[in-house]
Formats: sequence, structure tokens, C-alpha cells
Amino acid sequence: MLQDLDHGRLENEFRNLTPEAGDIAVCFADKKVLLRRTGETFADLPRVGSLQTRDWQRWGDEDLRYVFRLHGRNYFIWMGVGGEGCTDCTYEGLWTLRQSVPRSLYYCIMTAWHLYNWYRLNRFCGGCGAHTVHDDKERMLRCPQCGNMIFPRINPAVIVAVTDGDRIVMTKYAGRGYTHYALIAGFTEIGETVEQTVQREVMEEVGLKVKNLRYYKSQPWGIDGNILMGFYCDLDGSDVITKDDSELAVAEWHHRHNLPSEDDGISLTREMIRVFGEGKEPK
Ligand SMILES: [Zn+2]
Repeated sequence: MLQDLDHGRLENEFRNLTPEAGDIAVCFADKKVLLRRTGETFADLPRVGSLQTRDWQRWGDEDLRYVFRLHGRNYFIWMGVGGEGCTDCTYEGLWTLRQSVPRSLYYCIMTAWHLYNWYRLNRFCGGCGAHTVHDDKERMLRCPQCGNMIFPRINPAVIVAVTDGDRIVMTKYAGRGYTHYALIAGFTEIGETVEQTVQREVMEEVGLKVKNLRYYKSQPWGIDGNILMGFYCDLDGSDVITKDDSELAVAEWHHRHNLPSEDDGISLTREMIRVFGEGKEPK
């Protein structure tokens, strides 16, 4: 999956660092990211020292903010408005990168994008409107006027594989650009457990009751600011699907041996479909 690195881990612990020339700069503008190109392919993200700016060393916390460390390199997000530039770099749309950059780079960009959005959208306190300030001990924004503490926002959501022996419910979303097969999915509501989310979403989207929930894996999905939690579960009672037409264009039972093989090594949904096809889902 997206977050499965070949070696090492994304060191996401908060640190209060200032940038150096050799650090990595992740620059966003209009849902695009600045990438350094080598020949036909994108090689990497630019270094801080290569950014075309008058004097990056004079920038402060508000300009370049440390976000994480990977494979011995520190990553900073550029917090300015509008595009920064560097030699041999171009801005590329986030939604088209999935197949065109290495998975570990895509993971870095998605995670940086999640943090970038959180920082950008919380520059002002929602309680009193004052400018927030960065805490220097943990990843948190604080309102100096009313004391409001704002922590990173992560939206919990479930991915659900409803199974009945060798059958699984496959869906396609309605009214979206994504036309591949998917599984039932939805966000946890305030006041419910994740298990209740699974049962509610399945009932809302396809009108089925489920039991025997088995947790599989989770996945950070930074492009939308989500944490996805995958579950397999068994049909409980009638197998007649009543589709929510506003959410789904397709909802149907598929046999284990007749599933689309679309696992690109990135998404939890596609891995769960493949694993069911192989008969390796948690029983
Ligand atoms: Zn406030």
C-alpha cells in the first residue's frame, strides 16, 4: 500500500527545526506540487537551497515548516501563497501523480499535503478569529487570545468488504471521476464507534445487515485528510441489495474468482479486493 516503504519509516514525530540548504522543500500551489524533472520522469522534490527565492535563509517558521523525516532527509513544506520555483522543476497536479512517481514519493507528497492544508486552514482561531501561533513542543496551533488549542485534523473513515461465503459486494461511486470498482466506505460520525460506522454505512449504501466484523488494516490517505480503516464482515440475513442511488452507480455481488485485478500497490480498497480474491482475508 501507499505507506508501505521498502525500508525505514516516515519519522513523523514533531521537531522544531529550521531549514538547511540540503533539506527537501515541498511546495504546493493550486493542488499542484513542485517536482524536479530529469528527462521524461520526475526525479524528486527540490532542495530548499535550489528554490528560486531572494534569500531563503531569511525565511522564518511561517515560510518553511518542518513536517517529517524520511531516509535521512528532513522535509519542509513551503507555506507561501502562490508558486515558488526552481531550475528543472514544474508544478504537477496531485491527482495525476499516482502512477507517475515512485510510491514512497507519492506517500511523502500526500502526507505533506495533509499537513500543509491543516496549517493553512488554521491560521486563525475558529473561536475568536485571532491569529494562531505555532507551539514549539508539539504539533499544535494555539490561540494567544482565547487559549484555543488546535491539533491536526484527521478524518476517520471505514472501508468495508461485505462477504457471504465466496461472494463480496462490489460498488462503483455515482457522479465521480473514479470509475473503478470499490468497496463500501464512509466517515465515522460523532458519537458512534467505528464498528457502528461499518454497520450504518453498509445499511445506508446497500441496505444489508452485517455481523462478525474483522479488522484488517488501516491506511493514511492524506490527499483527503483521512485515516481509512478496513474491515471484512459477513452478511447477516437477506442478500437483497437496496442501493443508495445518490452514493452509488453500481452495487452487486461478485464471486471470489471473478474480481477485477486492479491492485496497484497503493490503495487499501484494492488490496482488500485482491486479498479476498486470493481467499486470504481474516476469517
Ligand atoms: Zn481564539
